[in-house]
Amino acid sequence: MTLSSITETRPLADGHQIPKFGFGTHLLSDQATMDTTIQTAWDAGYRLFDTAMLYRNEDILGNTLKTLALPRPDLYLTSKVAEAVQGYDETLKAVEGSLKRLQTDYLDLLLIHWPVREHFFDTWRAMEQLKADGKVRSIGVSNYTVAHLELLATQAKEMPVVNQVEYHPYLNQQALLDYDTENHIVTEAWSPLGRRAVLGDPMIKKIGDHHHKSVAQVILRWELQHGILPIPKSQHAERIVENAQVFDFELSDDELSMIDLLNKNQRTGNEPEIVYETGKQY
Ligand code: NAP
Repeated sequence: MTLSSITETRPLADGHQIPKFGFGTHLLSDQATMDTTIQTAWDAGYRLFDTAMLYRNEDILGNTLKTLALPRPDLYLTSKVAEAVQGYDETLKAVEGSLKRLQTDYLDLLLIHWPVREHFFDTWRAMEQLKADGKVRSIGVSNYTVAHLELLATQAKEMPVVNQVEYHPYLNQQALLDYDTENHIVTEAWSPLGRRAVLGDPMIKKIGDHHHKSVAQVILRWELQHGILPIPKSQHAERIVENAQVFDFELSDDELSMIDLLNKNQRTGNEPEIVYETGKQY
């Protein structure tokens, strides 16, 4: 995979293209911050913007996109179906709300935010319907384990093309990444910087010093070189730009391996199996 520019895309198994790098919007909650943050991200080259019903910011993101008059065909919009609205009819209805709030006719990518046992197959059936109806171009999942993906495969007419999971040097989920890759599923990294937990790592700092890059840049580059699509979030202009400047250096195989060895299976977020069983984040 070539990695020379932030605006490059990569193919999805359903024939669509997805940017190789994206921007997370979790915790962006007021209009002025959303406006300046998205403008900075757009100018830095980000085209994929990740939101969710749960973030309660689809409406202000929709306002921003309209105010900034960003060309819809150049944007890549992702949203996610919340646990509380899963089920066939509920999902169809809830996604209408997302489209309205985002002021768009379609989403580029819709994900099931977390697997929920009670609505497991019905929600996916709704996702397939939304794709068939043209309301969403691509469908995927988030926080699915290998077991969840194997279960889904027993009834799905089509499989997810993206699995968005927590992924960073302290939680590198190698077995899941291997499964996704073998099954032509793009792995997106949420909390790609471990919500800052990895930013003080001395080994990554040393590698960064060698390349004249920050710890955040080394981590994002490590993810890209592993074929992962990171979606870092920041509301500081200098960090938004810094995080995007990861296409002008390359980590060696040794450096990649040294970062691989930092894994400690350390989550910053929920355990998918618990949300699956209870239907709720905790
Ligand atoms: P993250 O991107 O790993 O980290 C964000 C934190 O790091 C913020 O506190 C940010 O601070 C800081 N930061 C960003 N760049 C930095 C840099 N270069 N140097 C120092 N600090 C930096 O974590 P995240 O926001 O949890 O995850 C990213 C996106 O993934 C979310 O926004 C959301 O879209 C998505 N997500 C999805 C799920 C899911 O279940 N599917 C769960 C969580 C997140 P400032 O903003 O103050 O700069």
